[in-house]
Amino acid sequence: MESLDRCAEPKARTLTLSEARKRILETVGPARETERLSLAKARDRVLVEDILAPFDIPPFANSAMDGYALRSSDCADAGTVQFRARVVGTSYAGHPYVGALKAGECVRIFTGAAIPEGADSVVMQEEVAVEEGYARFSRPARPLENIRPIGDELPAKAPLLRAGKLLTPADLGLLASAGIGAVQVRRRIRVAHFSTGDELCPVGEALVPGMIYDSNRYTLSALLDRPFLEACDLGVVRDDPVSLRQALETAAEMSDAVLTTGGVSVGDADFVAKLLDDLGQVNFWKVAIKPGKPFAFGSIGRARFFGLPGNPVAVLVVFHELVRPGLLRMAGTDLHPDLRLSAVCQSYLRKAPGRMEFQRGYYEQNGSGQIVVTACGKQGSHRLSGASQANCFIILQPESGPVQPGETVSIKPYSGGW
Ligand code: AMP
Ligand code: MG
Repeated sequence: MESLDRCAEPKARTLTLSEARKRILETVGPARETERLSLAKARDRVLVEDILAPFDIPPFANSAMDGYALRSSDCADAGTVQFRARVVGTSYAGHPYVGALKAGECVRIFTGAAIPEGADSVVMQEEVAVEEGYARFSRPARPLENIRPIGDELPAKAPLLRAGKLLTPADLGLLASAGIGAVQVRRRIRVAHFSTGDELCPVGEALVPGMIYDSNRYTLSALLDRPFLEACDLGVVRDDPVSLRQALETAAEMSDAVLTTGGVSVGDADFVAKLLDDLGQVNFWKVAIKPGKPFAFGSIGRARFFGLPGNPVAVLVVFHELVRPGLLRMAGTDLHPDLRLSAVCQSYLRKAPGRMEFQRGYYEQNGSGQIVVTACGKQGSHRLSGASQANCFIILQPESGPVQPGETVSIKPYSGGW
C-alpha cells in the first residue's frame, strides 16, 4: 500500500519550477537523425560534430594596419637617427608584393595584405613621411608590430566549433573563414500544437456572444518559428473527449512534441490531463508557479506532451520556463543558465507568499546607470496587453510577500521569447 502511494505521488504532487524543469530535462533527449546543410541554410541549426580548423587561420601573416612594412633590424642599426627606407613596391589585400625585402627597403602595405618576405614589422602610415621614393620613420619599428601572424587566431586542428552549438551568424562566418561550406546538423524537431476550448473562435471569423478569439495559437506559432523546429498548427479543438482524443493521437503520430493550450486544470471541461493518462503517461501536472500552475507533462507514444494552461499570459510563462528548455534539449543544443538581473522596482507589487510568481515588467537603465523595472499594468494571467508592454519577467520567490517601490527584485529579460 505504502509503495503504491509513493508511486502515485510524483505525478499528482505540485512540483517546484526547478523540479519540473529537471523532470522534463531528464525525460527528453535529442533526435538521432542528422542532415547536411550548406552554410546558407544552417543558421540556428544544431551542429552535431566537433569542427577543427582545417588549416592555420589566418593562413598567412598579414598587416593589421595601413602603413609600411620593413625589417625592424634596419631601424636598430640606424641608432637614434630618423630612419629612412626606400619604398620598393606595394602589398595590397589580395595582391601581395612579390619578392623579398632587402636591407634598407620597405613596402607600402594595406590592412589584410600579406607581409612581404623579409619584413617583420609594419609602421602605421601616420608615423611615416614619404618623400622622393623614401619613407622616413618618426620612431624605430618594433619587431612584429601590427602583424597578424599565421595561425594567430586558430592554429590548424584547433577546435573551431563544438557539437551542440546552435549556429549563430558569427559561427557561420567562422566556418566560411575556414573554407567549410556545409555542416552536419540535427534534424528539425517536429512540434504539433493546437488550442482547446469551446469558446475559441479562429481569427478571421465573426465573434458570436460568449466566444473569444483564440490568441494562444498565434503566440505559440510565433514562439515555435525557429529554424531548428518544424511547427504544425492543428487549429482549435472542441472540449469534447472524442475530438480531443483524436487530435492528440494525430498530433502524437506526426511529431516529436505535442503542445496544447487549455483544458489542463481541474474544471469540468478539462479533459486533457485525463486523456493523457488514458493515451500515454502523465509525468506531472501541477507546478507551483503563478501564472502557470496547471501544466501537464508526459508522453503519448514516442511524442513528448506539454499541456499548457489556457490563460494567455500563463502560456508565455510556461513556454519560457518549461517548454523552451525541453525543446532546446530535444534539438540537441546546450542550455545556458538563465540571465537574471537585479533591478530596483518602481511599482508596488501585490504578492502573497506561496507560489513563485512571474510578473510582467518593463526594465530600463536610468540616467545614473541603475536598472529599474516597472510593473506592466494589472497582473491578471489573462491580460496579454501587459505582456505585450513588458520586456522582462519580474521573478518573485515563493516565500516573498508584497514588494514596495524602491525594493530590489530579480528580473529575467526576454527577447523574442527565447
Ligand atoms: P482553461 O485552461 O481551458 O480553463 O482556460 C483558462 C482561460 O484561458 C479561460 O478564460 C479561457 O477562455 C482562456 N483561454 C483558453 N484558451 C485560450 C486561447 N487559445 N486563446 C485565448 N484565451 C484562451
Ligand atoms: Mg478551456
